[in-house]
Amino acid sequence: MVFPGHQRPGFFNYDMPSLPKRNKRKQDNDRPRVPSGDRSMYDSTWANVSKLYRKENPLCEACLLRGVIKDASPGGYKGVTDHIVSVSNGGARMDERNFATLCKQCHDRKSWHEGKGWKPESYGNFGAILPIDRKKALQDGTK
Ligand SMILES: [Zn+2]
Repeated sequence: MVFPGHQRPGFFNYDMPSLPKRNKRKQDNDRPRVPSGDRSMYDSTWANVSKLYRKENPLCEACLLRGVIKDASPGGYKGVTDHIVSVSNGGARMDERNFATLCKQCHDRKSWHEGKGWKPESYGNFGAILPIDRKKALQDGTK
């Protein structure tokens, strides 16, 4: 059996995602951008719930805890509704007691700590990212 050029078995890059495919690229651009992590978490319901939460709580809540008033959505940036206790750590996905509006800087900082394996119970040490009363509510099992 003769395989033409790049289609021969073992030629690895035949269907690599990095190769541009015009139709596929167009579809990707049409899709709303979602944060990293579990994509199934960020459906249209979450998009609406999180947008409404940011509308009601437009200031960065982590900055507020430090006494800084900061618009979490400056200019064209739409801001972040963060799960205080991440869903992957057992936080409630749709309970707004587990939501916090964060500015980009605070969200990046929290994500950095989470990426290092920090757990919610260790957040107390870094910049009051986690509203303590809501953390307690979550720990009480009332989520
Ligand atoms: Zn902030």
